[in-house]
Amino acid sequence: MPSAMEIYKLLPKKNCGECKSPTCLAFAMQLANQKVALAACPYVSPEAKATLEESGAPPIKLITFGPAEAPSKLGDETQLFRHDKTFYHPTVLGIIVDDAKGVLAMKAGIESAKSMSFERVGQMVRVDSVAIRHSTGNPADFLESVKLAASSGLSVVLMTEEPKLMAEALSLCAPGKPLLYRATPQNLDEMAAVAKGCGFPLVIGGAASIDELTQLSERAKKAGLADLVLEPVATSANLLLEDMTLVRRAAIRKKLRLLGFPTLSVLGSSNSDEAKAALGIMKYSSVVLMEELPREFVYPLLALRQNIFTDPQVPIQVKAGLYTVGEPNDKSPLLFTTNFSLTYFTVRADIEKSRVPVWLLVVDTDGQSVMTSFAAGKLTPEIVQKAMDTQKVKEKNSRNEIIIPGQVSRMSGKLGELTGMKIFVGPRESSGLPKMLKSLTA
Ligand code: SF4
Repeated sequence: MPSAMEIYKLLPKKNCGECKSPTCLAFAMQLANQKVALAACPYVSPEAKATLEESGAPPIKLITFGPAEAPSKLGDETQLFRHDKTFYHPTVLGIIVDDAKGVLAMKAGIESAKSMSFERVGQMVRVDSVAIRHSTGNPADFLESVKLAASSGLSVVLMTEEPKLMAEALSLCAPGKPLLYRATPQNLDEMAAVAKGCGFPLVIGGAASIDELTQLSERAKKAGLADLVLEPVATSANLLLEDMTLVRRAAIRKKLRLLGFPTLSVLGSSNSDEAKAALGIMKYSSVVLMEELPREFVYPLLALRQNIFTDPQVPIQVKAGLYTVGEPNDKSPLLFTTNFSLTYFTVRADIEKSRVPVWLLVVDTDGQSVMTSFAAGKLTPEIVQKAMDTQKVKEKNSRNEIIIPGQVSRMSGKLGELTGMKIFVGPRESSGLPKMLKSLTA
């Protein structure tokens, strides 16, 4: 967004007040802070409007594709480094199924992509997309697989450089919104016509360098396309890193609009491609399409993506409350921990190892870990007591004992006074819990 003074220079300077701001300068200041819309001034010239809209647009355009109920969102990033603020839209991971393998293998590939999901720290992570590729196989197999993929719930990428086949495949995807892969220097005009006709985003690639990719983007823009995804050369890990970084820098630092689009990488299935997929997630592929890979290679990539795309300023949290592990009764042990997801799931996993049913009170500490919240005054004996009262712990558990984390042993005296319970100081690391729980219930 331009500064207030930059906006002011483009306003009509009538100071008429029709925009509900007393002066044009006041309106410019409001606009710079995104508190009003430019449309509130009826006198802005079309040229000034175009300039302001262009300069106020995000450096990397937001592109969406996939089913309306769960669309894949790409781009709209504003940072080079996650720790500067956050990355917003996780890399879309997709599995390529190729018609060279025949329709049965393609169907199995789509089913496999659909099944690749698991829960981690309370969130479902999954493969989001399936890319149907026409290479040397029968176009009929390609089209049949497109139909199946379109009803899979995954975001579909159509991979063919033949404009006619692309147009045919598009008619099978309704009402979904596929990503079209791809226009190259050789077929750009025909493929641009197909993309313009349907309004779906188009991947442009096959350029030998970033300069050539920029020229291709310019050609696509002149052909009337606004929704593009860029595919820089990624023949080696070095080149992938170099080109992705160049594109991201050009878009964010230099505001080069022709490169201000999400990016995509197509990878094979060799060991080096697994490394490239990880690199793409970290630096800065919006979409990574991989040949069919065993899930033991895909799952770590999904976990990596989750780590990179969580907001570093917002800890992942679970809901505070009284949880059960196993089927505890009123004589089962009671423990408490905080609602920082990693703490909760680690503690829970260690309790499960003991096979002792317990009550686990999760205290709301704004998603902070035990030591951090204790140091910040968000985990005090009073707060723990209040959480116990809110959850009516004593009505469900008559043992009148509570195990507290070893790291906050200092609160044992006060908590004992407030609750009238016998306090057991647990181990400093939750890995010691199974031994303690077994000895307490022996
Ligand atoms: Fe200025 Fe336009 Fe507001 Fe009038 S309506 S004060 S010209 S910004």
